[in-house]
Amino acid sequence: MEYVFRSGSIETGFRSSQPLVDGTKAHQKVQKTYGKNDKKEVYLKTEIPFEEMTFQIDGRCDGLLISEDGSLTIDEIKSTSGSLDAITEDSYPVHWAQATVYGYIYATDNDLDKITIQLTYIQVRTEEKKYFQRSLTREELADFVMDVVAQYAPYARLRLELKRTRDESTKMLAFPFESYRDGQRKLAGAVYKTIHEQKTLFAKASTGIGKTISTIFPSAKAIGEGHLEKIFYLTAKTITRTAAEEAFRLLQEKGLAITVVTITAKDKICFQEQVNCDKTECPFANGYYDRINGAILDILQNETLMTRPVIEKYARKHTVCPFEFSLDLAYAADAVICDYNYIFDPKVSLQRLLDEQRKKSALLVDEAHNLVDRAREMYSATVEKETFLALYRMYKDENEVIAKSANAVNEYLMEKKKQNQQLEKELDEKLVHVVDAFAYAAEEELMRGGEAEELLLNGYFSAQRL
Ligand code: SF4
Repeated sequence: MEYVFRSGSIETGFRSSQPLVDGTKAHQKVQKTYGKNDKKEVYLKTEIPFEEMTFQIDGRCDGLLISEDGSLTIDEIKSTSGSLDAITEDSYPVHWAQATVYGYIYATDNDLDKITIQLTYIQVRTEEKKYFQRSLTREELADFVMDVVAQYAPYARLRLELKRTRDESTKMLAFPFESYRDGQRKLAGAVYKTIHEQKTLFAKASTGIGKTISTIFPSAKAIGEGHLEKIFYLTAKTITRTAAEEAFRLLQEKGLAITVVTITAKDKICFQEQVNCDKTECPFANGYYDRINGAILDILQNETLMTRPVIEKYARKHTVCPFEFSLDLAYAADAVICDYNYIFDPKVSLQRLLDEQRKKSALLVDEAHNLVDRAREMYSATVEKETFLALYRMYKDENEVIAKSANAVNEYLMEKKKQNQQLEKELDEKLVHVVDAFAYAAEEELMRGGEAEELLLNGYFSAQRL
């Protein structure tokens, strides 16, 4: 649904980082209001033949509401931490699409002439709700679903073809050198066995034995044999990223048909003088989602090694942001070369990777000893007293809730300073409490939109990380 319905620009406005947990709770709150005949979390599945392909569509609809006269409503619940006033019937076509497909499956399976589709939006904090309904006939539902399938088909077909050629090519793939260097065969064998047994291998190998190719070659073989769907080659440095690209290039020259994408950091690959992703400032952000599907099809049809210059070329051709483009490609490619962050950092990881893909991914971590320090950075949080004192001063005449909560954090830290307490084994619950209260107050203000004060944003993000 997302592939077909995404449109518009890259959003830079403030978005809450909370919705996942609150969202689940909010869903349950709506489901608790269901009547005794209503059903929740209904699993629906269907197969749709289309030209030479068969699409398998499945999902869990939030609710199936059964009224006294026997009429049926498919309920799709969405939670928001923003204001419900901003949501109109036509705000999110993708939500209608999702619910309509559930409606189609249910109506077809149960031979119904029509069904009602309902979107329920719930505000996570106030628990206020807003409903929209549409009644659709079986014919309307079928037309809609066939149209979605037809729009998705070119992409699905391309992915299928790429997968077929890839699997075929790995069967004949031989090690790309005439002979193995000392230790190389052992390492390659151990990598292959580890993937096969779904275990973890820590390898210490001396410089110059050709570690990169010895890990990439067996992983590529494992893809062709169905043990893997994806390879992530994770590095801390640009130079080792180039070594991985060269290893893939070599295998491609020997016949391997695999798609590889390199993710380059946003500030390095950005086309603008300064990173400012506001659609009014950056033409590559403006309308990004209107053009991205065309860009993806074009590059996947013509390139297999999508390095930085290749991504830049296609990003310019289709006027799309090269960074977001590389992230979107990462979901489609067989192999991704990137920094550790995109897998391990909870703030920037590739969140949209499907569980299926996660389970069948191999992580090849180059110089894994670096991960200790990097993980410390990724999972550490800092709250600075000065920020909260400044926020208190800034908001004391303007927004009492923010001022009070910022001051509570400031006072807590001041108290700790007086006690000269620098190290505690566990995070103090009181600190979590005052920081949470501030985060809620700040979020309310930020969700109102407009020019967000940088100080407030900084304070909010440092509070969220704790
Ligand atoms: S090109 Fe730069 S400024 Fe534009 S959307 Fe991409 S990262 Fe943001």
